[in-house]
Formats: sequence, C-alpha cells, structure tokens
Amino acid sequence: MPIATVNPATGETLETFEPLGPAELELRLARAGAAFLDYRLTSFEYRSQLLRRAADVMDADREQLARTVTTEMGKPLAQASAETAKCARALRWYADHGAALIADELPGEDDVVDSGATAAYVRYRPLGVVLAVMPWNFPLWQVVRFAAPALMAGNVGLLKHASNVPRTALALEEVFRRAQAPEGCFQTLLIGSGAVEAVIRDRRVAAVTLTGSEPAGRSVAAVAGDELKKTVLELGGSDPFVVLPSADLDAAVRTAVKARTQNNGQSCIAAKRFIVHSDVYPRFTSEFAKAMGALRIGDPMAPDTDIGPLATRQGLADLSALVTDALAHDAVAECGGDRPDGELGRGWYYPPTVLTKITPAMRIHREEAFGPVATVYRVDSLDEAVALANDSPFGLSSNVWTTDAAEQERFVRDIEAGGVFFNGMTASHPALPFGGIKRSGYGRELAGHGIREFCNATTVWLGPA
Ligand code: NAP
Repeated sequence: MPIATVNPATGETLETFEPLGPAELELRLARAGAAFLDYRLTSFEYRSQLLRRAADVMDADREQLARTVTTEMGKPLAQASAETAKCARALRWYADHGAALIADELPGEDDVVDSGATAAYVRYRPLGVVLAVMPWNFPLWQVVRFAAPALMAGNVGLLKHASNVPRTALALEEVFRRAQAPEGCFQTLLIGSGAVEAVIRDRRVAAVTLTGSEPAGRSVAAVAGDELKKTVLELGGSDPFVVLPSADLDAAVRTAVKARTQNNGQSCIAAKRFIVHSDVYPRFTSEFAKAMGALRIGDPMAPDTDIGPLATRQGLADLSALVTDALAHDAVAECGGDRPDGELGRGWYYPPTVLTKITPAMRIHREEAFGPVATVYRVDSLDEAVALANDSPFGLSSNVWTTDAAEQERFVRDIEAGGVFFNGMTASHPALPFGGIKRSGYGRELAGHGIREFCNATTVWLGPA
C-alpha cells in the first residue's frame, strides 16, 4: 500500500510520500535509543509538563488537526474536532494522575516481614523504545492513548501509522516537537507494513503495541514472540447491543444509531450486532431502521453531515461484499443495502444499512462489518440473548439495555468481552481500562492498567543491614 493522502470523498490522491530508506530508518532508531537513555531519568514532574504542553498544542491547533484527519480518512469534521479535544484531555489526565499510578508499590508490613525483608517495594520502571503500529480510524486518539501513558512512564515512542494517514502521522510528531519533547522521544516512521518486522527485531526496540486488524495483530505478535518482546494488541470487534424489555426504548434507539454510525461506522467498539427481545423487537427495529435511513450522508467537511465516506476503497469493497453475501442468503435490508450513485458515487460512500433475518450461514454473522451496517437479531429470553452475544470470535466490549439489576449482573458475570456498558454505548475514557479478549486481542490501554503495560515492575527487596 503506497503511503499517500487520498481524499475518500472524491478518490483523489492529494500527496504521496516516499517511505524511509534504510539509512533514515537507522537514524531514527539510533535517535530513539539514545533519547531513552536520558529520558528515562527525567522526573514525573518533567514528563507531566511535557504532556501538558502537548495538550496545549493540540488545543491550539484543533481546527487544523481536525481538517487533516477529515481530509485523510473522511470522518465528519465535528467528530475529528472532538477527537482532537479528547486527546488533549487524555494528555492532561496522565499528566495529573500518571505519577500516582506508577508510584512505588508497598506490600503490607506483615508480608514484608514474612518474606524475610526489612523493607520491600515494587518500582515501575520504563521498558525502553516502544513501537506503536496504529490504524487510521481514530488517527489522533489511537496514537495519543498509547503515547501519553508511555511517555509518562519514561518510555520513548516510535509511531508506524497507517499508510493512508501520513499527514496526521507527521502532524503528531510535530505536536510533540512543539511541546519541546527531547529529540527522539516521539518519532513518526513513514514505513509500509512490510518494514515493521525489522523494526520489531531491532535490538533498541523493547516492545510493540498494535491497534488494527486480526491479520496484522497475528503477524506483529508472531515476530515479537520470536524476539520475546512484550506486545499489546487491540484488534477488531463485533460488539453486541442487547435490548431487553425494561429498556427505555427511545433512548436505546437514539443511542443505537450513534453507536453504529459514529466515525462512519468504522470503530472497533461500535455496536454491530443488535440483539433484541421479541417483546420490543418490532418497535425497536422499525424505529431504528427509520432513524438510520434518515441520516445525512455526504461531504464530511459540511457541518450538517452525519456520515461521510468510508476511509479506503478496500474497506468499501469489503463492506459491500459482506452485505451482498447476506442478501444472497435472504437477509432483509430494512434500509440501505446498496451504494449511492450520482455525485456520492465518486467517493467511497456506503449508506446506513439495517439487516434483519440474519442466519449463521451469512459471513456477516461472524465477521466484523467495518462501516454503517447493523444486523438485528430477535431473541425470546435472557439466556438466548447472552448466548448470542457471546457467539462471536471477538470479545471487545458490549452494550446492554436493561434496568433490571439481576439481568445486569448476569451480563457482568457471563459476557465474553473486555467491557460491558449498561444503558449507554461503549466509549473510551482515560480513567477506564480499554481492551478485549478472544480475537479482539490482549492487554489493556488507558487507566493504570495501560501505563503499567510498558513498565518493568521491579521487585526491590532489602535484607537485614
Ligand atoms: P490494519 O490493516 O490491520 O492496519 C492497522 C495498522 O497495522 C496499520 O498501520 C497497518 O499498516 C499495519 N499493518 C497491517 N498489516 C501489517 C502487518 N502484516 N505487519 C505489520 N503491520 C501491519 O487495520 P485496518 O483494517 O486498516 O483498521 C481497522 C481494524 O482495526 C478493524 O479490525 C478495527 O476493529 C481495528 N481497530 C481496533 C481498535 C481497538 O482498540 N481494538 C481500534 C481501532 C481499530 P499499513 O496501513 O501500512 O498497511
């Protein structure tokens, strides 16, 4: 895949970039390795100030950053602007809380004595150079949610961003440069995915975090495994959105539309499978399809646009193929189901689509639909809802609409996912750990869990003097 900025609203190539050659790559790796030797010795206060300055730069450049994102991957401009603001908040959150999250950890007095020590503690030390392989869908947020905790812990970062968001990747490097990060602390590597293996194997790289697809995760984990280097993987998802009879149905429909179509439907934590109890199925399905069908699809720069184009031509082909397969197996399109023509036909647009009468024979039953396409299932009981919610290779997050405490507890106990959000939709927040199980990956980002992923939890034990 060439490294290029291509406007998904028109298919026009705006700029292409030469990938780094071997000498340039070596220069950046050497810079990162050297930067870590000094940066690891900086104080928490120094790192907090750095993150705060980066947040200030992002706030000041919010409009320009948002335009760059929308131009490269097509999300509505208001959503790109909100993403930029969220990054600034996360940087400040780690500036405020990071030091406490990785402060020395003391065992209980009795345990110290029991271990034969006069004193003992755990010190969270940085691992070194962390490589981040990142996707285009939240091209600022995915990077910042890795970079803020990693830098706060004293690591340094190398970013290999998706090949279709090079301007955003370079803008992020610029954010940290303007925040006066020491040279080599945060660098963008303009390289294709074929060059990632050599970077992982490089002796100066200590660990790798990847957010992206299952095949990419498998490939990166295989190389890192061969090198015995730490990995965190945030992969795909096909999150259930369960609606039970006690739900506030108006709120559930409103939220369902947002949860499925935010970011043009291209979010790992988007609700993708709607599992609805038969008592409320007819009303939910008809209102959901009506609201989805009423969304405004068009130019992502226009302020009244709800849904812009998909980010890549390949993504459009993949999504179209999933819907075509479902319709060929007798699924019913309650709205959407076919590409728009006319002016919108030039770009990579796909309309909001609601499919019913889904069966296990359809690919969309098991595969992730990365675009504004919802599948709706009818179930007759709580047991059936839990079983269907878990009938997926993925396990990222889940949404459940019920006000019944016993039903909520049942999901907390049994859902096969890294999160469960009741009467709302999944969203990431710096204070809450984020990540999945099964084929959605492993490890956690954000909160204390995220900052400790790339730390060496060092046991310090002191015997009698
Ligand atoms: P992708 O193809 O896996 O790309 C993601 C990143 O991995 C890009 O930087 C890509 O580089 C790189 N890459 C791809 N194949 C690679 C390989 N074999 N070795 C090393 N690097 C490789 O992902 P996508 O399809 O564009 O993005 C959508 C996927 O990401 C969806 O499945 C979505 O659910 C998932 N996602 C997950 C989360 C989460 O937090 N769990 C968040 C967002 C997205 P190139 O662009 O150069 O190929």
